[in-house]
Amino acid sequence: MRSNAARPTTVDEHGRCYRIDPDSTHSEGQTLNQRTSVRTRRRVSRGDAEEAIRTLLRWAGEDPGREGLRDTPKRVVGAYADWFSGYSVDPGAYLRRTFEEVEGYDEMVVLRDIAFESFCEHHMAPIIGRAHIGYLPTDRVVGISKLARVVDGFARRFQVQEKLTAQIAACINDVLKPRGVGVVIDAVHQCMTTRGVHKRGVSMVTSSMLGTFRKDGSTRAEFLRFIDIERKGTA
Ligand SMILES: [Zn+2]
Repeated sequence: MRSNAARPTTVDEHGRCYRIDPDSTHSEGQTLNQRTSVRTRRRVSRGDAEEAIRTLLRWAGEDPGREGLRDTPKRVVGAYADWFSGYSVDPGAYLRRTFEEVEGYDEMVVLRDIAFESFCEHHMAPIIGRAHIGYLPTDRVVGISKLARVVDGFARRFQVQEKLTAQIAACINDVLKPRGVGVVIDAVHQCMTTRGVHKRGVSMVTSSMLGTFRKDGSTRAEFLRFIDIERKGTA
């Protein structure tokens, strides 16, 4: 299992929650890459994006004018708006509504098997996987669907699995301020299974452990036992 725990700078550089402020490209917490992506996206019209798809079709050897492909650029751009909707959301906002009346519950909360789809930023190929999240609350817990929304908020962007893992953990850590948080992601990269080395059945597992999940071996072991990662295998 690869752990991002040894690379805290990665968490700091990419992992913080941020807001997209349409009036400013210098919002608090945005990294340079995120600011650039917002600016670039605003400059590209839908028509430009559709033309780019026509170019790719021609490059692949197709005639974008033939009947079956005529509406394809429009459909692809529509799909992109869905697949990459994460650029227009602030995942941290989902966690700001918390429940404080939990009758003193201070044991681990674990949400496992959160299915997600993302795209690798190196090949723009799908990454299909599952995320498992655990945290040890202080006095606040969050609705479980909100953790799944955080996963989607970061997954629906171009990603690297290590970065996705670190971003989810850092976001929960920053907003909920739990005693500890653990995130494990198990995913299949189609850039590896459908091209290149063509290795089917290979999944990649990454983890990010913060706070007590990082410092305390028994907390970490309890989390890993809960998600049962060894037995479950791939997504
Ligand atoms: Zn790739």
